[in-house]
Amino acid sequence: MNIILMGLPGAGKGTQAERIVKEFDIPHISTGDMFRAAVKNETPLGLEAKSYMDKGLLVPDEIVIGIVRERLAMDDCAKGFLLDGFPRTVPQAEALTATLKELGREIDHVININVRREFLIERLTGRWICPICGASYHTLFNPPKEAGVCDKDGGKLFQRDDDKPEVVAQRLDVNIAQAQPLIDYYAEQGLLRNINGEQDIQVVFAEITSVLRG
Ligand SMILES: [Zn+2]
Repeated sequence: MNIILMGLPGAGKGTQAERIVKEFDIPHISTGDMFRAAVKNETPLGLEAKSYMDKGLLVPDEIVIGIVRERLAMDDCAKGFLLDGFPRTVPQAEALTATLKELGREIDHVININVRREFLIERLTGRWICPICGASYHTLFNPPKEAGVCDKDGGKLFQRDDDKPEVVAQRLDVNIAQAQPLIDYYAEQGLLRNINGEQDIQVVFAEITSVLRG
């Protein structure tokens, strides 16, 4: 079961990734973890990647693909894997297809957790913090008893700049623009499965497993 999991920030990708890898007993391969491991283990590609990162440069695709390839060739990926955060671009996706072909494998499913922009903004801007005790609330998931006020000490809750609607919307639009060509690419290949991520976590998971088992 070789899976790519896609979803914008706030779509619930992390939660679903955790459940999928547990259910299907496959490794969760996130680019961040993979990079940190390659750098830490000082593999030749890891060292090369580090030399770019140390200079604050973007690691070139050939190196990224090389690291992904090494990871996917490891024993624990024999039964399958869940790729998370990779590929990010169509050239990376094409390179991944070619690399998997060399390994005698292919992607079985690309799961895209779909959530409308306005829902994402609501989820991503819901965090409010107490300046007195540092307690964190969320208007949707963990609201204070009285709006804008800390339950413990009556502190007047504030929003971090990063959580403010205009900042969140801008960041999200960059992500949407980046994801669209990739979504189109996998749709063309007939691999894309859209899942409605606005539903309950359990319902989303049930729909994903039914696609993967189908
Ligand atoms: Zn407080």
